[in-house]
Amino acid sequence: MPNKTKYVAIDAHHKCKACWECIDQCPRNVLGKMNLLGLHKHAIFKHPEDCIGCGKCIKACPHEAYSAIE
Ligand code: SF4
Ligand code: SF4
Repeated sequence: MPNKTKYVAIDAHHKCKACWECIDQCPRNVLGKMNLLGLHKHAIFKHPEDCIGCGKCIKACPHEAYSAIE
């Protein structure tokens, strides 16, 4: 699973706390949940090719897991 789209990257392993605040904010349904046996939990880009770079995921995350790609 890629850790970035053309416009945003996610630090899934160090910063994502699996609060799921971001998931419903994406207008293109790019984001999804990884939850492997409750041990390995973080947001993922399930459809990275659909990202339009709107930045809503960046604003939604209270843990600053997303960053814009310049
Ligand atoms: S930048 Fe916008 S379209 Fe891309 S993943 Fe974030 S919320 Fe979705
Ligand atoms: S809002 Fe941030 S911390 Fe919460 S699931 Fe999304 S990326 Fe992870």
